[in-house]
Parts: sequence; structure tokens; C-alpha cells
Amino acid sequence: MSVRVRFAPSPTGYLHVGNARTALFNWLYARHHQDGKLILRIEDTDKERSTKEFEQGLIDDLKWLGMDWDEGPDVGGEHGPYRQSERDDTYQTYQKQLQEKELVYRCFCSQEELKQRREAALAAGKPPKYDNRCRDLSNEQIASFETEGRVCVWRFKVPVGRVITFDDAVRGEVRFDCDTMGDFVIFKGDGGPTFHFSVVIDDHLMQINHVIRGEDHLSNTPKHILLYEAIGAEPPKYGHLPLILGSDRAPLSKRHGKTSVRQYREMGYPPEAVINYLSLLGWSPKDNREVFKPEDLISIFSIDNLNKSGAVFDVEKMGWISAQHMKEKNPKEILEHAMPALIEAKKVSEPLSAEESDRLEKMVAAVRSGLRYYNQLPEQMDLFMNDEFEIAEAEALEVLKQEHVAPLLKEFSQKVSELDDYSNESIKGCFKAIQKETGIKGKNFFLPVRLSLTGQLHGPEIVDVFPALGKERLLKRIDRVRNLYVEAGT
Ligand code: GLU
Repeated sequence: MSVRVRFAPSPTGYLHVGNARTALFNWLYARHHQDGKLILRIEDTDKERSTKEFEQGLIDDLKWLGMDWDEGPDVGGEHGPYRQSERDDTYQTYQKQLQEKELVYRCFCSQEELKQRREAALAAGKPPKYDNRCRDLSNEQIASFETEGRVCVWRFKVPVGRVITFDDAVRGEVRFDCDTMGDFVIFKGDGGPTFHFSVVIDDHLMQINHVIRGEDHLSNTPKHILLYEAIGAEPPKYGHLPLILGSDRAPLSKRHGKTSVRQYREMGYPPEAVINYLSLLGWSPKDNREVFKPEDLISIFSIDNLNKSGAVFDVEKMGWISAQHMKEKNPKEILEHAMPALIEAKKVSEPLSAEESDRLEKMVAAVRSGLRYYNQLPEQMDLFMNDEFEIAEAEALEVLKQEHVAPLLKEFSQKVSELDDYSNESIKGCFKAIQKETGIKGKNFFLPVRLSLTGQLHGPEIVDVFPALGKERLLKRIDRVRNLYVEAGT
């Protein structure tokens, strides 16, 4: 039997990183298996909060992350429709079946009454479960509630004295005592199914055989197993992923910072880096590797390697992972992705001449190793944009005051004016020649040289700064620093 999994988001907001992680693990699981299928199902039964814009936003973000699916509202498939809002007839049919089997009943308790009873139970130190009081209403009582015009919901009769056990792919054996739950609602007062009912009917009809979802659904699973039994179907294999936590180990929420994929997308993180980082939240390959391309993840992903304990979302770590992906990209690709940010920051304007592109790529090559996401590029490139930089840092001014700096930079300027080949080798050869001639080495050599070219004590490799600036600007910078900041010594 081939694997059929699904991702079932509710379109009530942008794609949360936790949901993206759920989508990712389902996608990896489907793609890992030959003939594995991923189904995208839109759970839009909450009519007030669900919107088409959010649905499209979820689809766009999933695609941006590089995921694809075999069946869904946008691609069709044999088990559609794939929006719950379009499946009402199906839910009605199954609800009727349960009614005929007398597994469900009408409950006329109002929200207000339920609330009061819940509060009273809590005050008395009892679990706030529904007390099943409408389970055995007589026909007269039902008629009288109807005459009063009370709205009814349909509740499922939870068996008494049963313990539900299932083998969770992440947590091992899980047990639930049915006596701790009240009869639960499967059809709401507005005539629509509850989440519990629609999810089971859909998973059954869509032939889902593995449900990989967040741990927040763990306590729903016994209800879902009971509903499977009630419709005479086999439940899928469940796997509940650990919660994603903030740095304080509380469940990740907006107060921890950016929590939607869209926000990281807008910052210019490459999608494969986001995928890589999300994959590590609750899964590990059981060796020390952490940097993966999506295709590597597909080949090594296994639900046997999922972890039980909560996974902390650490933006710093995501940045590090992303930097590893950035290093692998060629400057042309980085530049293409960063162009909108560069234009917005007014660092460049389109169209670029071939010469400008070439120069920009060289700048990118120089700063690439310090990049975590594309939109950092405008700031990182500042270094190359302004030849008339100011040096204000006391430590830098100290360096330039040293006696050996004037003769060093004079020689440096001379050698740069003679140098035309900007290969690493030739630049290093030029440095060696200056060191030999002046006898100045180590940081006495490199710090003034770096300051004369960039105005900063730290930054990109100096050999990469040469091609990024070109001879004319190199000389302009060196001579300007000599004139403005170096005490005339020779
Ligand atoms: N629609 C549910 C949610 O967004 C997912 C249901 C499930 O995975 O079973 O949390």
C-alpha cells in the first residue's frame, strides 16, 4: 500500500512556521516513498475566520518553500473537492449514518449553560467535561426543547469504561481513558461539521494512511479513533510532532518575534535554508550533520528519527544554517535575488550595464561569506559604495597614527598602481613584495591596508576587495586615507 499523507491547514492566517514544519515532514515522508502521495486539504469550516486570500497565501508560501502536492484544490485529484467548505453533502451523509446507528444524539444545552457548568465543575475541582445530560432525552423533552426554539448540536456517544490505545510514530504507545471525556460535538448548531468529524470523514475518503500532525492534536486522536470505528473504517497510523517553543520554552507565539514563513520570505531568506532549518525542529538524522539540501532531506528522512521533546525555534541557528546555504551560491544568483532590495535601498538602478553587473558580482563575492539572507546585501555592500568614508573609531585612528603607516601606504599605493592582475595569487604576491621591501608584516601590515581600502578594521577578505573596487577606486581610497588620516612621515 503506498503512503498517502496530507497537510490540512486552516486558511485563517499566514503559514505559521509550526504548520510549515508539519507540511514539510508530510512532504518529505511522501517524497521519500516510491509512489507516496501528498494531499493538500483546506480546512475552512470556520467560516468567519477563513479567507480565500489566506488560502492563496498558504499555497504561495508552500510553493515558495519548494513543496508540491499530488492532489489539492489547485491541482485537482480523484478524491476532491479538497476544500471542506465544499464537502457539506458528504458530511451530512455520514452524520445520517451515525444517527441511524444511534451513535449520536441531539443536545440542546446552550453555550451559556455549558459555560456555567464548566465553571462550577472547575470550582468544585472536577474535570470540566460535558455531563452527557442530553444523551437519554425522551421524545417529549426533545419536542419541548424544539418548541422553545432551542438550537441543537449533535453529540457522539463516547463509550463508557473504554481505554483507547494507539501506537504513535513519535511517542510510542498512547492511552486515553474514555471516561475522562464527555460526549463530544460532531455537528454544530449552524448545521456544519466540527473539526473532529470533517477531519475523520475526509481522511477516510481521501484514503490517508498516515497522519503526521502537531502534538496539539494528540488529545483529539482518541475521538478520531472512535469516529473511525463508528463509520466502520480503519484509522490511519498517527505521528504527533513535538511542539515548537520560543527561547523561554513556552509555545512559540507572536511575542517571540517573527512566526510566519511569509516574514522570513520577505526578509530574503532562501527557501532551501528555511526548509533545512525547519527539518531540524523535531527530527535529526542521528549523525552530526545539520546542513542539507531538500533532495538530501528527502532521501534520508524517516519518521523513526522524530524526537518527542519540544523543539526551540532559534532564529540565530536559522541564520547560521542559512549562511551555509548562501556560501554555496554563486554571486550571480545572489545578486539576482537581492536586486529588489538593492533597488529599494537605492544602491543600484536598473537596467544594469554588463560592466556594472560584473562589478556588483565581484562585490557580492567579497561579502558572500557574511550573508545570511538576501536583504542583508544592500547594507553589506555599503562598504563598496562610498569612497569617501569617514574613519571615526578610536582604535582605527590609533592604528593609522603609527609611524610605519605612512611609508607602508605610500608603497602600497605605488604597487597597486602597477598591478593589473587581480587573481588571488597575484594580489598575495604584491603583498609579499611590499612586506619584503618595507619589513612590515602581520597586523602591522594588514590593519592599515584594510583601513585604507575600507575604513574598517574588520570585513571581507582583502583579496576580494581588489576586484570589487578596481584600480581607480583602490588608489583613490588609499590616497585619500593617506591624506586625511595618516600623519605625514616621509
Ligand atoms: N486543520 C488543522 C490545523 O490547522 C489540522 C488538522 C489535522 O492535521 O488533523 O491545525
